[in-house]
Amino acid sequence: MEDSNRVGENRVTKQPPVYLDYNATTPVAPEVIQLMHRCLSEEFGNPSSSYENGQKAAAITTQARHSVACLIGAKSNEITFTGCATEANNLAILGTCRALQKTKNHIVISAIEHPAVLEPARYLQSVGWDLSEVGVDKQGCVSPADIGSVLRPDTALVSVMHANNEVGTIQSIAEISALAKENGSIMHTDAAQSAGKLPIDVDVLGVDLLTIAGHKFYASKGVGALYVRLGTPIENVFYGAEQERGLRPGTENVAAIAGMGMAADLAIRSLQKNTENMRIARDQLHDRLRESVPGLQLNGHTDERLPNTLNVSFPRVSGRQLLSLAGDDVMASLGSACHSEQDTVSGVLAAMGFDAAQALGAVRLSTGLTTSSADIERAAHALIGAWQTLNHGQ
Ligand code: PLP
Repeated sequence: MEDSNRVGENRVTKQPPVYLDYNATTPVAPEVIQLMHRCLSEEFGNPSSSYENGQKAAAITTQARHSVACLIGAKSNEITFTGCATEANNLAILGTCRALQKTKNHIVISAIEHPAVLEPARYLQSVGWDLSEVGVDKQGCVSPADIGSVLRPDTALVSVMHANNEVGTIQSIAEISALAKENGSIMHTDAAQSAGKLPIDVDVLGVDLLTIAGHKFYASKGVGALYVRLGTPIENVFYGAEQERGLRPGTENVAAIAGMGMAADLAIRSLQKNTENMRIARDQLHDRLRESVPGLQLNGHTDERLPNTLNVSFPRVSGRQLLSLAGDDVMASLGSACHSEQDTVSGVLAAMGFDAAQALGAVRLSTGLTTSSADIERAAHALIGAWQTLNHGQ
C-alpha cells in the first residue's frame, strides 16, 4: 500500500517528457481552441442553411478561407478545404489524372514522397498509368534535371514535396514547376510540413496544386486544404452535394476550418520569429549531441532544410532502443510517425542511399514554437546518456 502510494506521488510530480515530434503533429494553439469552442457551441449552424446561424457559419468559413489563402499567397476561391493532407493529396493526384485521362498517361513523383502521395500514384500505376519515381541524392534533394529527363508529352502531373517530413530537405520546387509547365504538365507540391514553418507563395513556387495540413501548424487534426490554381483541370473523386465547389462534397467541419484559419493568421503574424526560435532550439540540440556523440551523422541537407528538423544517426546503436531508453525524458520519432511500429529501414533514408546500420540508428527530432533551451538541455542529456549506455553495452 505504502509502495503504491509512493509510486502515485512520483507520477504526480514527474515532469512529462520533452515533446520533440512537432513534425508528427503540433498542439492546438490556445487562440485556435477558443475559436473552435465558439464554433462548436454557439456558431453550430450548417453553412449551407439560409437562415442566420447557417449564414454565420458560412461567414466563418469564408474568413478562414481568406486566411489560409493569405498564408500561401493564393486567392480565396482557390482553396478547397479537406479532411486532412492525405485527402488533399489524393484529390490532387486522382482528380487531375481523371480530368486528363483521355490525353495523358504518365505521372512523375519523387522517391521520398509521403505515403499520402506515393500510394495514390501507385494506385494509378495499378490501373494502367505509367509512373516515374525520381531518385534523390545523399542529402535528399531531387534534381530538377532528373525530373526534366523523365517528362514526356503525355505527362499529366508532376508531384514533388516541398519539404520532407523525415529529414526536412527542401526541394527546388520553382525550378521543377518551370520544367513541368514548359512540358504542359500540372505541378503539385505537398507542403504539409512546410506551411507555417517557411514562407510560401504559390506564384513564386509556380505550382498549380498545393497541399497543407492543419495539425502541422497548430490547428486541429481533421482539416487540410488543397490549393487549386484557377483553370487547373481537376475532377472530384467523391460524389455528393456542392460543398467546396463540388470538389469536396460533405458538410464542412466549420470548427476545424475556422481553427485552421486562425492558425494561418498566427503563422503569418509571427513566421519569422517562430522560424528563428525553432531553428535556435534545433541547432542547440544538434550542437549538444555533436559534442558528446562522436560520429553522429546529420541526415538531410545541411542548409536547405526545415528550420525545426534534426534527423541524426547515432553510431552503432538502434534508434528505436535509444528512444525507448530516453523515453522518460523525450518524445521523438524514428523516420516518420506513420510507420514507427516497424524496425525497418525508412524508405526515405533508403532512397538517400543509406545502409541499414546508418538508417536504423536514425532519430527524427523536431522542435516547435515553445521548445525552450531548458527542454533542449534535458532532451540532449537523456539522448546522450541513452547512447552511452547502449554504446558501452556493445
Ligand atoms: N504529407 C506529409 C509531407 C506529411 O508529413 C504528412 C503527415 O505526416 C502527410 C502528408 C499526411 O498528413 P495527414 O496524416 O494529416 O493526412
